[in-house]
Amino acid sequence: MPSPARRLMASISSTLSLKHGLSLRPTHQQSASLIRTSSAPGIGFRSFRRSFVAASSSAFSNENREFVIVGGGNAAGYAARTFVEHGMADGKLCMVTKEPHAPYERPALTKAYLFPLDKKPARLPGFHTCVGSGGERQTPDWYKEKGIEMIYQDPVASIDIEKQTVTTNSGKLLKYGALIVATGCTASRFPEKIGGNLPGVHYIRDLGDADSLISSLEKAKKVVVVGGGYIGMEVAAAAVGWKLDTTIVFPENHLLQRLFTPSLAQRYEQFYQENGVKFLKGASIKNLEAGSDGRVSGVKLEDGSTLEADTVVIGIGGKPAVSSFESVGLNSSVGGIEVDGLFRTKVPGIFAIGDVAAFPLKMYNRIARVEHVDHARRSAQHCVKSLLTAHTDTYDYLPYFYSRVFEYEGSSRKIWWQFFGDNVGETVEVGNFDPKIATFWIDSGKLKGVLLESGSPEEFQLLPELARRQPAIDKSKLEKASSVEEALEIARSSL
Ligand SMILES: Cc1cc2nc3c(=O)[nH]c(=O)nc-3n(C[C@H](O)[C@H](O)[C@H](O)COP(=O)(O)OP(=O)(O)OC[C@H]3O[C@@H](n4cnc5c(N)ncnc54)[C@H](O)[C@@H]3O)c2cc1C
Repeated sequence: MPSPARRLMASISSTLSLKHGLSLRPTHQQSASLIRTSSAPGIGFRSFRRSFVAASSSAFSNENREFVIVGGGNAAGYAARTFVEHGMADGKLCMVTKEPHAPYERPALTKAYLFPLDKKPARLPGFHTCVGSGGERQTPDWYKEKGIEMIYQDPVASIDIEKQTVTTNSGKLLKYGALIVATGCTASRFPEKIGGNLPGVHYIRDLGDADSLISSLEKAKKVVVVGGGYIGMEVAAAAVGWKLDTTIVFPENHLLQRLFTPSLAQRYEQFYQENGVKFLKGASIKNLEAGSDGRVSGVKLEDGSTLEADTVVIGIGGKPAVSSFESVGLNSSVGGIEVDGLFRTKVPGIFAIGDVAAFPLKMYNRIARVEHVDHARRSAQHCVKSLLTAHTDTYDYLPYFYSRVFEYEGSSRKIWWQFFGDNVGETVEVGNFDPKIATFWIDSGKLKGVLLESGSPEEFQLLPELARRQPAIDKSKLEKASSVEEALEIARSSL
């Protein structure tokens, strides 16, 4: 009988949803796609004619709100900015969030936020949205100045779609004209019965989680990171920066299996090992053990061995936070709330954006959910623009993922990769990681996806153009390229 941990890991792998929102989509070539997808929906989306309930002139003094955003994360912050840009925030917009903070750039939590304490870690207000895309830093004061009502630490608990109201945990009733659901994901957890809630066991989804991890790292000696996705990769890179004995454990054969090819993963694994990270691949966890003080003391594996640990970080993916919004219409295959190309749900006046939205990925003609910050930002802007203006162009997203690690002062080298497009078909790898490497995905003679490590700004700029235009490419020519620069030039000339 497999253990609960093993079942959990197996179910995560078999639903192909491990690692941070990237998903495996087996194709005829058995390659992996990065996005949760399903076939196009057969449902019709009723159009929403704007017939807002009036907010009182002394804004927000009664229960009526014109616009309500549920969630205070990445997508919510960019949505608020778009309302302001259209002059539709002041006295009209209300944001209800579970967190005690105004929206911030969540990816920082496993990057600069986890720098060793003497290496200038990022802290709020430094990374409030929208600084991640070069925009204004929207501090709590910014929301006040813009006349946006912020309801902090009071999650929405239920919705009544007939009455157009939401009720918060504390019992606040808000009547909305239009509602945008931006609740993101919650981190998948190990069950309590196998030690998933022991002191010293951490999950990272919000700033409170990251603070709690930092307080463990301050006392830690041995850290075990569970999960070989990029949360795991980022946390392991941070932990060795703290000079801690760090082991990363995962059931797959190599890091970031959903995106990296085995040979690409090997380059990263070697670099991690040179920087002190130990690997335990193909390993299943039975349970987490507690010491006499009740704190986690080890990670017991299915093979009977135990890894000593005083701090365990679990990075095994997330689930869309939809519990209060089932009546809005969920997608049964990719999860999340189903929307059309303007982020409208089936219920007029209700929209969903960011990680929680299951939207038509036009380029690849499938429904997808993308758990990445670039999509959170763009979906927010697209949705609010369509809601407030006559703009009716449907969302046409080009999948983009990135990670950056070992960026702290004194690190042997900074690692920064970007990927654009679809990871389907055969691959050609060019470069030896010293200092660069590129992987090209080619399907039916066309370039479908590109990953580049340590490119120049100009080189990174070329990637979206290649992935969007999908030029026919001469694979053998690419294979003969003697450098990443030459390979990119071959790709550019095929446009
Ligand atoms: C640690 C970490 C590192 C990441 N690194 C990267 C990266 O390197 N690159 C990348 O592309 N992406 C990265 N991501 C993913 C990226 O951060 C998300 O895709 C993005 O934050 C999604 O934005 P969102 O607004 O949909 O959800 P979130 O930013 O998660 O915001 C959701 C908000 O809704 C709130 N909420 C939930 N339920 C309710 C409710 N019922 N009522 C009120 N509020 C509610 C939550 O508390 C939260 O504030 C990372 C994510 C994490 C957690």
